[in-house]
Amino acid sequence: MIKSKNKICPRCKQVIIGYPAISRADNKTEICSNCGIIEALEVFIKSQSKGDEKNNNEDNKETS
Ligand SMILES: [Zn+2]
Repeated sequence: MIKSKNKICPRCKQVIIGYPAISRADNKTEICSNCGIIEALEVFIKSQSKGDEKNNNEDNKETS
């Protein structure tokens, strides 16, 4: 029997090959290194566009 230790990247749904990266979203989710790079880029892009977008998050209170 083959013991499958392969982990699936929750971002791209592909098997993580080699060392996984840790998602910056929660600092514990293992993602593939490719997605790790993408997340790093996204953080970089977000930091670049800061001030360009308004933060409306606190305005979005939806109480049921
Ligand atoms: Zn991935």
